[in-house]
Amino acid sequence: MTMKLKDLPKSINVYGQRTKIQVKELPGLVGKADFRRKTIFITPTAESEGILRETLLHETIHIILNRLGITPQLVSHEVDEIICETIAKCLAENDL
Ligand SMILES: [Zn+2]
Repeated sequence: MTMKLKDLPKSINVYGQRTKIQVKELPGLVGKADFRRKTIFITPTAESEGILRETLLHETIHIILNRLGITPQLVSHEVDEIICETIAKCLAENDL
């Protein structure tokens, strides 16, 4: 089932920490996990590109990893992106 912008939750909880979800233009990006602001930003074009669910999952996994203390001191940015991308892709392809 294709997710629409109206289906996005206003916030999610990640181990008891509320993380807001906001739709915002992000030049050059489809999503961004802002740890300091405890906010996931998603660009509106993620909907038209059919990658909204995957983007939400990807950014959520970034928040989860950060909450677990898996920081750039532990894993490289590339590995961090591979983990988020591959897990989000699998969850999204099963509409999870
Ligand atoms: Zn990422």
